[in-house]
Amino acid sequence: MAAEEKFDVIVVGAGLAGSTAAYVLAKEGLQVLLIERGRQAGAKNMTGGIIYSRVVHEVFPNFWEEAPVERAITSYNIVFLGENSAVTLNLKAPGLGKPPYNAFSVLRAKFDRWIAGKAEEAGATLVTGVTVDELVMENGKVKGIKSGSDELLADVVIDAEGAKSLLVEKAGLRGDFKPEDVSVGVKELIELPEETVNERFNVGGGEGASYTLVGYTKGVAGGGFLYTNKASISLGIVARIDMLVEKQVKVHELIEDYKVHPFISKLIEGGNVAEYSAQIIHEGGIAQVPRLYSDGFLAAGSSACLLINNLFTLRGMDLAVASGAAAARAVLKAKERNDFSASSLSAYESLLREAFILTDMEAFRRTPSLLNNRRFFTVYPDLACSVMEELFSVNPAPSEKAFKVVRRHMKGKAGLLDVLRDLLGVYRAL
Ligand SMILES: Cc1cc2nc3c(=O)[nH]c(=O)nc-3n(C[C@H](O)[C@H](O)[C@H](O)COP(=O)(O)OP(=O)(O)OC[C@H]3O[C@@H](n4cnc5c(N)ncnc54)[C@H](O)[C@@H]3O)c2cc1C
Repeated sequence: MAAEEKFDVIVVGAGLAGSTAAYVLAKEGLQVLLIERGRQAGAKNMTGGIIYSRVVHEVFPNFWEEAPVERAITSYNIVFLGENSAVTLNLKAPGLGKPPYNAFSVLRAKFDRWIAGKAEEAGATLVTGVTVDELVMENGKVKGIKSGSDELLADVVIDAEGAKSLLVEKAGLRGDFKPEDVSVGVKELIELPEETVNERFNVGGGEGASYTLVGYTKGVAGGGFLYTNKASISLGIVARIDMLVEKQVKVHELIEDYKVHPFISKLIEGGNVAEYSAQIIHEGGIAQVPRLYSDGFLAAGSSACLLINNLFTLRGMDLAVASGAAAARAVLKAKERNDFSASSLSAYESLLREAFILTDMEAFRRTPSLLNNRRFFTVYPDLACSVMEELFSVNPAPSEKAFKVVRRHMKGKAGLLDVLRDLLGVYRAL
């Protein structure tokens, strides 16, 4: 890169947020530089793998017709894992597998390359294998970026570098993360023949299944996922870092435990682990969102902690796409005024509201506190399994009424008041 070049916009990170921002800006004729540290877009990116499509469809209409999606998700499951058993809530909804589709499983290496390709087609310049180290600042205003000894200038820098978001900190928009604000996610990609995936998950014709896994995490706050791709399965877990430290548990031990649990082991039997990846994630909700803009600077996607985990859905990818588009639109408005000050870029916040991102995050502002409640990861999944097992077992002994069975299993684990308090918490959060 030559020193002292000037662009309209520099976008840091060719993930979903960055490539979308670059695409929207380049389509309007702005000179956009998209910088990615990986050898190619998507090379370093991980996710669980379910992208909710309706928001993405607004930016890339009918994207499923050309994007490398894996399966349209029509079977949604929540699984409570006990020691040796599991209780599953299943929604089978073929209607969600029709245009405009509810969600797809995706693999980031392919999907990110596709979106970055759209940005390039629209006219953005993508450079890969380059890491942005610093911001160029002048009187508190962001004027560009530094990478090694190179300095590049722009009217606006859009930070879409993902969850570690060092540039957001350098721009002065947030302080250090606290340990309880950070979780770590790990994932294995397990290859299986397409027909085996179809048979084991009772899906076919391009349809797939998603499983949210609750419990069996050695008492650590966190949860798992299992998603079907075309010819592989994404199995992973997200766990709070402070609790891993407190319980002296390593996150890879949790995924190893999953793999031998009777519910999961049968689903992945004979599979070949093709990839292992790990990444931090911020599940703190709206309270964790930093200031989103300053003079000459905007943060999008997980760099701005935009993520919703409401227990049913984990949404980060569609929020990344929508916020990338909103950041780009805010810059286009600023360009009309030729004013890239914080007050001019503040339109970004209204655009995020119009796209229902901040409003949805506000609606679920209490769910992070549920994610902190250990009973949801320890007591209740075990309770669900042991109670159901007993209720379905017939023995040559006097039977008890269901409520008595529940009370007996709760003894020493959770009092009636705890349960009522937790139910009220769920009611308020959801
Ligand atoms: C375990 C796990 C499971 C998840 N499951 C789901 C799910 O099922 N569904 C869902 O919607 N969301 C999920 N998420 C969240 C989702 O992955 C993120 O919200 C999403 O990836 C955010 O996209 P992004 O573009 O903001 O950031 P990223 O995807 O992280 O992209 C950032 C890009 O910036 C590049 N970069 C970083 N620093 C620099 C630098 N200094 N210079 C140049 N380039 C740089 C990176 O290489 C990367 O390409 C999950 C997250 C984790 C960790």
